[in-house]
Amino acid sequence: MALMIYNSLSNKLEEFKPINGNKVNMYVCGPTVYNYIHIGNARPVIFYDMMKRYLEFLGYEVTYASNITDVDDKIIKKALEANKSEKEIASFYEEAFFEATKMVGSKKPDLIPHATDYIPEMIEFINQLIEEGYAYVSDGDVFFRVGKIKDYGCLSNQVSEDLESGARISVNDKKENPLDFNLWKKTEEGIQWDSPFGKGRPGWHTECVVMNHKLFNGMIDIHGGGMDLKFPHHENEIAQCEALYHNHLAKYWIHVGRLDLAGAKMSKSLGNCIYVKDLNNTKEGMILRSLILFSPYRSIISFSEELKSQYEKEYEKWQRTYKQALYECQYRNIELTNISYDDIEKFKEYMNQDFNVQNVLTLITSLVKDINTSLRSKNYELLAIKLKTFKEILDVLGIDLFIKPLTNEELDIYSKWNEARINKDFETADIYRNKLVEWNIL
Ligand SMILES: [Zn+2]
Repeated sequence: MALMIYNSLSNKLEEFKPINGNKVNMYVCGPTVYNYIHIGNARPVIFYDMMKRYLEFLGYEVTYASNITDVDDKIIKKALEANKSEKEIASFYEEAFFEATKMVGSKKPDLIPHATDYIPEMIEFINQLIEEGYAYVSDGDVFFRVGKIKDYGCLSNQVSEDLESGARISVNDKKENPLDFNLWKKTEEGIQWDSPFGKGRPGWHTECVVMNHKLFNGMIDIHGGGMDLKFPHHENEIAQCEALYHNHLAKYWIHVGRLDLAGAKMSKSLGNCIYVKDLNNTKEGMILRSLILFSPYRSIISFSEELKSQYEKEYEKWQRTYKQALYECQYRNIELTNISYDDIEKFKEYMNQDFNVQNVLTLITSLVKDINTSLRSKNYELLAIKLKTFKEILDVLGIDLFIKPLTNEELDIYSKWNEARINKDFETADIYRNKLVEWNIL
């Protein structure tokens, strides 16, 4: 069965077929680096990392780009308050961002474009839009002429009238139409660049389009981001691409749902954020990763301590089972060579159904059960197969159990403990047992 993905642009499940054979180009909107990320911000970071791993597991060659927005009003404000440069603020929070992504087990993207490295290209892009009548200069600002795009609203599925009445229309005499958005923003404070339109900085929607185009030079396969980016950010990215490139930028638009605290939206301004940096250790990072991955990706997650402890229990169960089985295989010199193709096929079948992770979780639970049963019944052949399959699936999901094989010294004590038990020399067995408990092996 082919991979079916829900495309937000068509609102349909579609078969995934990359534009260019086996190669997949994906771009995910990254953070604006002016603060630490909270666990809600971590959701796309975790989901798209998993998506890349899964596509690679299917045999695709994936190039994953995610940008850093290192110029923005929020960064400028923070820099002024802290009496630092925008660059200092942005670098600091960028580093913190990658610390956090590591904490939740996500790898760095292959390409990490920074908005400030593409300013001349952005100015050129805006110039082109002006030349072709899609943008206009108004008192140092440049706006995109939304009315010129016939299917504006195609992603958020809203017609222009709805958008206009729904949009929070700020009183702005500079615009021809309330929906027109900033391509270039005149700024009086903070970092600014010279341009033919006057001093200022590029708008966020333009940044992503230009970086995308510079990196991939044409349409990409997957454009991702949080659901809240659909409008206006992604809609406006599409509008600019339609104007100059006559395409929708990406073949598949994929959006992940929000993560809310049970009963409330988490927001920095409300001060009710749980920051990734405040997780105690990488184990907590993995529990969060599991919680996020095993929730249907397009739905809102309502985060609570109860939900977290549910996943904590699961994760600890996986750790216990894996540890026991791995050491037993090592002790008995059983190599983990074979895999259960039936289970791997099931895994693929579920994942191919637009990432049906709930079924994957059921599959993992049944593998854990099989491992424990074969341990008890001493069916070591089955144990090895199921153990390898279990590990393989967790690897694709990027869930690390942090369990290493025993060292020679540890294996020696482990073997002695087993031999003493076989010989019913319980006193000696206890001595070794204590040692193993001390080493956190039992
Ligand atoms: Zn973006």
